[in-house]
Amino acid sequence: MKIHEYQAKEILRQFNIPLPDGKVADTPEKAREIAESLNSKVVVKAQIHAGGRGKGGGIKLANTPHEAYEAAKSILGMRLVTHQTGPEGKIVRKVLVEKATDIKQELYLSLLVDRSRNKECLVFMASEAGGMDIEEVAAHSPHKIIKVAVSPATGFSPFQARKLFYGLFIDKALFSQFSNIVKALYQIFVEKDASLIEINPLVITSEGTFVALDTKITFDDDALYRHPDIKELRDFTEEDPLEVEAVNAGVNYIKLDGEVGCMVNGAGLAMTTMDLIKLAGGNPANFLDVGGGASAERVEKAFRILTSDPKVKAILVNIFGGILRCDRVANGLIEAASKIEMKLPMVVRLQGTNVEEGRRLLQNSNLKFEVAEELYEAALKAVELSRS
Ligand code: GDP
Ligand code: MN
Repeated sequence: MKIHEYQAKEILRQFNIPLPDGKVADTPEKAREIAESLNSKVVVKAQIHAGGRGKGGGIKLANTPHEAYEAAKSILGMRLVTHQTGPEGKIVRKVLVEKATDIKQELYLSLLVDRSRNKECLVFMASEAGGMDIEEVAAHSPHKIIKVAVSPATGFSPFQARKLFYGLFIDKALFSQFSNIVKALYQIFVEKDASLIEINPLVITSEGTFVALDTKITFDDDALYRHPDIKELRDFTEEDPLEVEAVNAGVNYIKLDGEVGCMVNGAGLAMTTMDLIKLAGGNPANFLDVGGGASAERVEKAFRILTSDPKVKAILVNIFGGILRCDRVANGLIEAASKIEMKLPMVVRLQGTNVEEGRRLLQNSNLKFEVAEELYEAALKAVELSRS
């Protein structure tokens, strides 16, 4: 789960990481008030779940409260396009108004789970090339990235902060400040079950102190149940609306780019179904696992999700009826399809208990079901129908 910059900064503040003073606003008037109370030059920053806002025009410096008002007016409501949002961009609903920082140097610092290593460990990354995308630095000047692995079994030790620090070639007098930040990052990561914390840029100011100018935190979804306070920070307007609907319906759904909508019970079977659609020359529009239950209600929700994707031209249902018998599944499909007045062709492949009865029910209904016995045959049919 991702959160906004202003929310991430609140967490960093609790762990004494130095930050610029600031507050979030959802109107230009509020932005002006905040700028007045900060009584200094400010920076007005679009709050969206994507980086690259600076280049996209989502970050503006303002010398006066009136300029802060104007900056917020132009940013709020804009559709901000960055290299991370895709061409459709993201609508800005909030801005963070902060005291502007006098920057001497921009650094990069992050902590994440490194899945590319054989041992399970966390990795700190630091770089003198701050303010840029770390992927870019990794591609063009990898020698500028210092990596230090930390085993979760032994935890963080001060020598690891030293190793990062000496790779940055900055003023030695800054070490104790730097070390405190590194230590706090590790603490936040473990206590809050994060999967990534990034400070980019971590700035050295003209007064010679550190300030975390921009930060991003991603949390481990599987640990959210332990952190009700963090779960509350979720902003559903930032997420794909179909995926949100699926979460609420208890359906496991991931949107993809193809034309064949899939409804399957079980994650493994869903993957297989997607593979066979590819093999049949088509492209799956999604991954969708309705779960073992596949109740009429869930099936209806799943149909609604599939049909609200305009790219979907045909639906492939692949259900294995074990404890849940195929005749019950068939009735659920018929009920759901007639309730939502399904217009798309549906290929259904059932296997399992009472499969004959299930198929008969589907064939005798006057809805657009095509019954298939084998999975590959079903995939071929669905791909063909998606093109007609
Ligand atoms: P991002 O583009 O979404 O990563 O947003 P950032 O918050 O990282 O800002 C991008 C860039 O804007 C930074 O690397 C800085 O160069 C600049 N910037 C942001 N805040 C300030 C500030 O307070 N003062 C100055 N001088 N520059 C800033
Ligand atoms: Mn940044």
